[in-house]
Amino acid sequence: MSLLVQRVSETLSSNGALAQAVAGFQPRAGQTDMAMAVTQTLEQGGQLVVEAGTGVGKTYAYLVPVLLSGQRALVSTATKALQDQLFSRDIPRLVEVLGLPIRVALLKGRSNYLCLHRMEQARHSAESAQPGAQRALAKIETWSQATRTGDMAELTGLDERSSLWPLVTSTRDNCLGSSCPRYRACHVNLARKEAMASDVVVINHHLFFADMAVRESGVAELLPTVRVTVFDEAHQLNEIGVNFLGKQLSTVQLLELSRDVLATGLQLARGLVDWHALTDRLEKSSRDLRLAAGMHRGSVRLRWTETLPEGVEGSEWTPALQNVLQALAQLQNGLETVAELAPDFQRLLERACELSQKADLFSKVPDPEGVRWAEVSAQLRLIESPLDIAQAFSALTRPVQAPLVLDHEALDDEASDPESIQALMAGDPRHGSDPQATQGSGVGQRAWIFTSATLGDEPSLRWFTEPCGLTSAQVMQVSSPFDYAQQAALYVPDHLPKPGDPGHAGHVAQLVVEAVELLGGRTLVLTTTLNAMRAIGEYLQTRLDPAANVEVLVQGQSPKRRLMERFREGAGDGRAGCVLVASASFWEGFDVPGDALQLVVIDKLPFPPPGDPLFEARSQRVTREGRSAFADHALPEAAVALKQGAGRLIRSETDRGVLVVCDTRLTTMSYGRRLVRGLPEMRRLSGHAEFLSTLRQFTTDATSWTTS
Ligand code: SF4
Repeated sequence: MSLLVQRVSETLSSNGALAQAVAGFQPRAGQTDMAMAVTQTLEQGGQLVVEAGTGVGKTYAYLVPVLLSGQRALVSTATKALQDQLFSRDIPRLVEVLGLPIRVALLKGRSNYLCLHRMEQARHSAESAQPGAQRALAKIETWSQATRTGDMAELTGLDERSSLWPLVTSTRDNCLGSSCPRYRACHVNLARKEAMASDVVVINHHLFFADMAVRESGVAELLPTVRVTVFDEAHQLNEIGVNFLGKQLSTVQLLELSRDVLATGLQLARGLVDWHALTDRLEKSSRDLRLAAGMHRGSVRLRWTETLPEGVEGSEWTPALQNVLQALAQLQNGLETVAELAPDFQRLLERACELSQKADLFSKVPDPEGVRWAEVSAQLRLIESPLDIAQAFSALTRPVQAPLVLDHEALDDEASDPESIQALMAGDPRHGSDPQATQGSGVGQRAWIFTSATLGDEPSLRWFTEPCGLTSAQVMQVSSPFDYAQQAALYVPDHLPKPGDPGHAGHVAQLVVEAVELLGGRTLVLTTTLNAMRAIGEYLQTRLDPAANVEVLVQGQSPKRRLMERFREGAGDGRAGCVLVASASFWEGFDVPGDALQLVVIDKLPFPPPGDPLFEARSQRVTREGRSAFADHALPEAAVALKQGAGRLIRSETDRGVLVVCDTRLTTMSYGRRLVRGLPEMRRLSGHAEFLSTLRQFTTDATSWTTS
């Protein structure tokens, strides 16, 4: 047994450091198994994929071995909430308990840091004339004198959605980089330097992929220097990655360029170029392009397999796109004449060239290896992306050797090497892949750990590993320690109409009213469409008996954070219980332990929406490979989404609850069995009477129910 295995095992044992220092910590077999697998991967290198069910304690299962190994590590999460939790709570607690001299840094996206250069220009912008803007800018300027990090989260009272936010933060497009007069004091650069000097850096997947795509966040410099990379909430990697690895052109980008050129031109080169004429033309052509995409209700995605997006008039679209190209060309000419005057113009010129190249790409036929579509709302976004991240990611995570010892001189070289991530992906020996080059300082294969509560619906976890190019990774499933057979029940009502029936949402709403009045709230309704969400929400808001004392919360009617807080408060102290009707983002990551949530109602089986261009293109590829688009693509997608939605119900050892799936296909169709198998094993309720009597038991004695 290696020393690391011994230390990890002791730390997680019943008389180990955690049991002695952390209140309520108890050894869990699943957690120890996962920690041992992580330890082995750290020692031998390679890729480990772990699906760890709710309650396993996966965070400690990877953090304990990683921290005890002393290896330099990058930990990436999908959400800011988990990123903050790891940096502010979990890692500091473990570092203290384990007594380790470890330096930890949090690296966020650049829009989270004050941009000193833009702040100094902000008073000249049109937005600064708005009521209250001067006072807010004065507050930011005062804070800028005192802040060490420049992290905008320190600045209370300024909302991320405020129009001032983009004026005092930077984007990749408008950052001047090393030409910036404030480069030395720049908070974005200082945060990256701090990350480079730390042993453990906490980032998020967006940042990770932003660097893979356009070397945006500082992760590119960091990655070659770390030996361990952990992706928590790994189930989101593919979707986030695809977004970043693709190419996008939006009317927002065009209008922002136009606005920035006008402001900079008038400030630094007034009279030298007709800035108004150039930017008016770009603005008008961008708006015309949006109009050429047609009128649609809400936000729609238009397929784009030939020269035009589907349903769009070529006689309007083609000249509109050509006008954008010409407007960009004229803008580039204007900017070239003043490019020497200030670095701002040089950067604006680069932006105009980049957008022009993208507009040119979208004027040609789509890449047959990828998928293209147009997203039309008030804005227009043109997107061409790979179907998954397999190619990019398998190149990145394939076995190469990495230095075990931090070499600061090498780090300085990496930081100035603009191609470092691409070089790493290509196995460039400068980045530790050459054993000869690193002999003497200790070498070892890089270790990649991927984990989440849901990574598939069968033991091989193909749903996750295939699109991520991790087909040769070691895979493991660690079951939840919860006793689902005792704690949870599944009910599939057979009296409801088929899911395609126009009256389906109304019948679901009636069932919810009956249950909610009985339970006094404590219910989460997850819908597969926004229309069903609105219909059910409206029904509850108008039909629920006021005497039931239940507050109806509907996604979109309050900020998500506020809805989650209110729901978790539940009933008591004069407050009513809650029913929350939600879609999309509430299917995962919404954690409500305790009796504030005892009933989860899912309106329909969550098959991907037909007509979604990305889903269709992926299905077509599966068919081309000789497999079944339904069984090998649509069904696993639905199974994983169902598992995630159902996962909201039981969040602790003492929770009790019922899952209702209002879709009879779960019991009448043969594929229903596969979907049920993907769920934890719950007691089945045989009919409506048993459903209601089970809910009644919750209201009398939540800790014991009769099983039939
Ligand atoms: S380098 Fe970029 S982010 Fe930093 S102060 Fe200058 S413009 Fe702002």
